[in-house]
Amino acid sequence: MRERIIVHVCCGICAIETFQHLQYDFEPAGYWYNPNIHPYQEYKLRLQTAGYVFQRIKKEIEWDTRYNIFDWFSAVMPHAKEKNNRCRICYHLRLEKTAQFAKQEGIKFFTTTMFASIHQDLKAIKESGISIGEKYGVEFLPLDLTKYYQKGKQTARQWHLYRQRYCGCLFSELEREGLFNENIEKR
Ligand code: SF4
Repeated sequence: MRERIIVHVCCGICAIETFQHLQYDFEPAGYWYNPNIHPYQEYKLRLQTAGYVFQRIKKEIEWDTRYNIFDWFSAVMPHAKEKNNRCRICYHLRLEKTAQFAKQEGIKFFTTTMFASIHQDLKAIKESGISIGEKYGVEFLPLDLTKYYQKGKQTARQWHLYRQRYCGCLFSELEREGLFNENIEKR
């Protein structure tokens, strides 16, 4: 019998290839928790898209729709200007909730769909996941699925999915628009 694994889902598009890959060795189920997606209308669009994907791939998912932006901003704001540190904290907040859920469900493994994105810091995700796993006694599975990134995008086009233009937070939107440095310099 294949082991169950809880997969943090950052968005529906990254979930397509991640679940495709994991299902050979595991029984994967998703876990949605993303207070890093701003503003709320954007959050709802991505949530809706992920909902459609999970119906289509016929996999289970736990929808943790707590939109804890006060916790998110309190933790991230002191590091908002340094992308590396900001993202590390953001990964940590979401992976910790995932590990807690896996623990609560008695599931030994967890991982994240962020490993399917070429825009994320895979090394930082891996380090964060491993240290959280050790804390909660749940094993983190590091992956590198970036070679499937284009395939996931292609499927998203075929399925007419909403495709986000920035990572998630307001800072990443400013970076995407080329306004981030300008804002920092004005301070
Ligand atoms: S850029 Fe993405 S990973 Fe980094 S803090 Fe923003 S939402 Fe989180």
